[in-house]
Amino acid sequence: MNAPAQHPPAVRTTCPYCGVGCGVLAKPDGRGGAVIAGDPEHPANFGRLCSKGSALGETLALGSRLLHPMLRQADGTMAHASWDAALDKAAEGFARTVAQYGKDSVAFYLSGQLLTEDYYVANKLMKGFIGSANVDTNSRLCMASSVAGHRRAFGADTVPGTYADLDEADLIILVGSNAAWCHPVLYQRMVANKRGRGARLIVIDPRRTATAEDADLFLPVAPGMDTALFAGLLVHLADKLALDYEYIDAHTTGLPEAMARAREIAPDVMATANSTGLAPADVVEFFAMFAGTPKVVTCFSQGVNQSAQGTDKVTTIINCHLATGRIGKPGMGPFSLTGQPNAMGGREVGGLANQLAAHMNFGHEDIDRVGRFWNASSMAQREGLKAVQMFDAIERGEIKALWVMATNPAVSLPRAGHVREALSKLDLLVISENVASNDTVNAKAHILLPAAAWGEKDGTVTNSERRISRQRSFLKLPGEAKADWWIVTQVAQRLGFADAFKFTCAADVFREHAALSAFENNGTRDFDIGALAAISDTEFNALVPVQWPARAGAPLDDTRFFADGKFYTPDGKAKMLAPEMPRPQAPVTQEFPFRLNTGRIRDQWHTMTRTGLSPRLGAHLPEPFVEVHPDDAVAHGLTPGGFARVSSPYGACVLKVVITERQQRGSLFAPIHWSDETASAARVGSLVAPANDPYSGQPEAKASPAAVAPVAFQSRGFVLSRARVALPEGTWWARAAVAGGEGLLIASNDAPEVWRERAAALFGREVEIAEYIDAPRGSYRMAAFVDGKFAGCLFVGPAEAAPQWDAVKVMFEGESIGEAQRRAVLSGKSTDGLADPGPVVCACFGVGLNVIRAALADGVAGNVEEIGKALRAGTNCGSCLPELKRIVSDGRVPQTA
Ligand code: SF4
Repeated sequence: MNAPAQHPPAVRTTCPYCGVGCGVLAKPDGRGGAVIAGDPEHPANFGRLCSKGSALGETLALGSRLLHPMLRQADGTMAHASWDAALDKAAEGFARTVAQYGKDSVAFYLSGQLLTEDYYVANKLMKGFIGSANVDTNSRLCMASSVAGHRRAFGADTVPGTYADLDEADLIILVGSNAAWCHPVLYQRMVANKRGRGARLIVIDPRRTATAEDADLFLPVAPGMDTALFAGLLVHLADKLALDYEYIDAHTTGLPEAMARAREIAPDVMATANSTGLAPADVVEFFAMFAGTPKVVTCFSQGVNQSAQGTDKVTTIINCHLATGRIGKPGMGPFSLTGQPNAMGGREVGGLANQLAAHMNFGHEDIDRVGRFWNASSMAQREGLKAVQMFDAIERGEIKALWVMATNPAVSLPRAGHVREALSKLDLLVISENVASNDTVNAKAHILLPAAAWGEKDGTVTNSERRISRQRSFLKLPGEAKADWWIVTQVAQRLGFADAFKFTCAADVFREHAALSAFENNGTRDFDIGALAAISDTEFNALVPVQWPARAGAPLDDTRFFADGKFYTPDGKAKMLAPEMPRPQAPVTQEFPFRLNTGRIRDQWHTMTRTGLSPRLGAHLPEPFVEVHPDDAVAHGLTPGGFARVSSPYGACVLKVVITERQQRGSLFAPIHWSDETASAARVGSLVAPANDPYSGQPEAKASPAAVAPVAFQSRGFVLSRARVALPEGTWWARAAVAGGEGLLIASNDAPEVWRERAAALFGREVEIAEYIDAPRGSYRMAAFVDGKFAGCLFVGPAEAAPQWDAVKVMFEGESIGEAQRRAVLSGKSTDGLADPGPVVCACFGVGLNVIRAALADGVAGNVEEIGKALRAGTNCGSCLPELKRIVSDGRVPQTA
């Protein structure tokens, strides 16, 4: 009798994408993958996952992974090396650079994707032992303005509230946050409050995003004018006697100065309306809703943070909450929604160039305290270079050696083209990475170190509500990959700091991190997890999500800060500050008359190195695009579905055109995700101006001057292939994962005959070809078969009637296809008689736009609920619900973010 199959138990871990920090149950399938489900016991998500989290099981393949240490050779090629050789080389390179050029000639650039333990060790090495504070992180691009706003107002980088406040609020204001797409599970929690308790939702954003679909009031504020709106609100609250003077007197300072500046900026409703571009009636309604609702939570995200005045925007929001005493109590408070999975953990360990570990600063006492705790041999004495400054210093040749961990600055930083060039000037570029190829890796790295990826890593992350959760490994480390904390520890030991870097496991690092948080703290610092400083390895392995503070001797309850009205400033009072006058960012000019806003789309994450592996996620918005208002499209000769060259003083991209009234006149929007790995000309970071916030150093990514012009292509089409294919120079392309291989959406000016000549070579000479050409109509289609199996296809047609790939993709999923399907491939139509499903709207169940529209047209469904019943769309993760709502309400194609 056969023994019953052994099924490994599901492992409790945490999603690696956004700052919501959802708990995940991962059940290894024994073939290197895993079945993924939401963890019903995790307090961040109670079992829910969004489309990205649900598709994690599709992203675990090793095809794109960096699996071995690699060293650059004299001829410029990379060659496999042993770990010892690679680590020796890295340590020797940093030591030599410091000896020759000084300790500030080296830098680390880290990531909100790192675990807290990885972050802690890297920060300790640079700030305590190399002696420089040149350690910054891609979180600088994400929430540095929130950090600066918190520290200025509260005396510490404290997020006061918890997710439970979103359940209890009667009014939720989302400022510069497309939470429906960027924090979907949390957003659905807000919507549940709206449906269940009648909470109202206000969305403030220059773009009418998916988040606005559920809003009771949508305020399309002019780019960068949030400060004026909240200054106007403060004035209104004062004039309507809606301020809480008892709270103000007892717990704050600075109201007179803040109020005087607010009156300068926005003295009344009309002035506010004029500055913000909003209708006066909408301003009045917003003011009245805030004034009349004690339980109000104001959530803010990248639209506030990614600004040259981001800290001031945060300040004006906080001012309104302090002036009404709406902070530190259930259902109210300012709430920064963190972008990355562990941006908060990075802040805890001081992974920013202007912070020390455990929320300490570069004051003499803190430098001394951290130095004593670490027994540091060379403690940094001053702040280091923030991200943009750091890469400027590399460009100038002042930083000679850089270690990049788990991030892709050649794509994500402003002036990304310049950044990539600057990287190639370094004497030493070390990169710890999951992937073998990305725009940063390809910028002439000297040493590549294979790092553990999600599913293999083991440690902790902290989400937006200060909740520390375990990321647990459930897959074996592939190839020679190692944990980041181990890699840094090995280099530290080789640099001569073995005594301070004796860590043998993630729990070792965590215990030291926790102990430092409590060291000489006595309640003077917000971040204190001393209760966890002595946990055993077993307890660390079993650690359930815990919210900080977790002080030794205190109960481990969920906590809201500032309930007692005490803050971390020297006088214990919160500071209300006067913002600068809102001013135009980098000015638009005749040559660059638009403001370019950048952001994310629903189903992709950062530079797509993980989400780009999922066919489900790739089906939603597979091409890089630019959104343009209809009037601007007419004025600049742009056509729907055509292409545009979007340019700025720093670079240019060619993007698909989406014309929509959701975009304001004079503004453009383009998503950030595509790189040279995934598209021919869509590095949107290369367009972004290097304008930084003076307090946070966070770059302005939402209002760069830009120009737009049409680009004509004669033909468009697609390629489906089992392996990567190379397209001829001059072809516009965008790559998307498809089941069974990969897909390329293409556009070109080559005639069908030219494509026919090169077609067979795309798939190898040994293929059997079926083809169809209609030269007068500009159409060519071919399918390649090997031993009767569907190896790939190329469809090219006139640009105005481009062939669609949805039906062909279905046939391509399995290698072997039946005779009928084989005959039908070139028709581009489904063989089962079903209509083309159209672009995917519901990623969980693969429901296409055409199917939804047909259900509405046929009367099968009349609203979102009925679409769910009939087609299942929107019934799993809920990420597509705003789009379904939009399709029902206005019948327009939900093409964009
Ligand atoms: S909301 Fe989605 S992306 Fe964010 S943590 Fe949850 S599952 Fe992951």
